[in-house]
Amino acid sequence: MTAAVRPQMGYLHDTLEELKSQHLHFHLPVLSREQKAVTVVDGREAINLSSNNYLGLAAHPKLRRAAIDATRKFGAGTAAVRTIAGTMTIHLELEQQIARFKQTEAAVVFQSGFTANAGTVAAVLGKDDLIVSDELNHASIIDGCRLSKATIKIFRHRDVEDCERILKETENWAGRKLLITDGVFSMDGDIAPLPQLCDLAEKYNCIMMVDDAHSSGVLGRGGRGTIDHFHCHGRVDIQVGTLSKAIGSMGGYVCGSRDLVEFLYQRARPFLFSTSHPPSVIGACQAALTMLEAPEGERLVKKLWANTKFFKRGLKRLGFDTGASETPITPIMVGDAAKAFEFSRALFEEGVFAQAIGYPTVPQGKARLRTIVTAAHKRKDLNTALETIGRVGHAMGIAAE
Ligand SMILES: *Cc1c(COP(=O)(O)O)cnc(C)c1O
Repeated sequence: MTAAVRPQMGYLHDTLEELKSQHLHFHLPVLSREQKAVTVVDGREAINLSSNNYLGLAAHPKLRRAAIDATRKFGAGTAAVRTIAGTMTIHLELEQQIARFKQTEAAVVFQSGFTANAGTVAAVLGKDDLIVSDELNHASIIDGCRLSKATIKIFRHRDVEDCERILKETENWAGRKLLITDGVFSMDGDIAPLPQLCDLAEKYNCIMMVDDAHSSGVLGRGGRGTIDHFHCHGRVDIQVGTLSKAIGSMGGYVCGSRDLVEFLYQRARPFLFSTSHPPSVIGACQAALTMLEAPEGERLVKKLWANTKFFKRGLKRLGFDTGASETPITPIMVGDAAKAFEFSRALFEEGVFAQAIGYPTVPQGKARLRTIVTAAHKRKDLNTALETIGRVGHAMGIAAE
């Protein structure tokens, strides 16, 4: 028997009802199989265009095997935070591997990309400092900025001139300054103007920080990220990445100087106050990075881009608006949230799983389907997906025929 709702909690129910009436209430789709290019969602087999499993590593045999091997050797959990008793040899090995991959002096692993961003920004800056941030930066950056208590100034999305306007206005700022951007933006799939932002960081003496969650495993040689893609090595002080997307497992990391990493060991609150990764996760991440460092990784990244180009061309040919996307994240713009959710539902009925995204994840009136193809998608699946999206979308009047 469940307890009756206490009156002080009633507002939660009211808010949920309001979200439902505005079509802003999302249902959690449930997978009953592995995270793969074709999977079973809510009991229905579907071509999966909704994951961040860029290289198809989430269910890869090598990662599974490594996770099991690490569990056999080191157990199921660490039962301690990193600074007390939760650092095992494999945690340090993974950090060294990440630093080598990213060509930085050092790296530190966090529980997630979210905690890596939030913990790092809040640790590195304080109330007398200034943060200059792209308006579409990830929620974890926004939360980190708020936690730091620094002054936050937002520049228009990817707008280098607007960014410089802010930096000019604050030229005599007494505290430290941080310029921060996503490398690839998670909802639009466009790429930050990194070389120009690095120029500004140098000109105005800012710490430069990039969140490469969606570019690691995707852009640059063997998926080394936007810094490698733009040849900006040595110009970005703090590089964040995730182990939860292309790497196929879970976690986040920060790369940079040895001092930065040592400082985060001392000050980053998620590192200090939350338990470290279980061995299985570390083992899987090590296996994934080993693949990325080998020719096999280069091949997977190439396949990802070949599939991406094929799929984008197909959508354009069908007349869909894919926004400013330059990466595997390909939005299909709809505008109206109710219509986007209806489109997504109709596609799902036809065996294509492409999630609709609405406010507050994207601005009001910019609802869309967010699609991501992976290296693991077969051409036949992409052709079926395109045919279905075209037929259903055109019937709903979403693209010009
Ligand atoms: C997904 C994402 C994160 C968070 O990474 P997790 O490992 O899933 O916590 C951080 N930044 C950006 C830009 C992201 O897209």
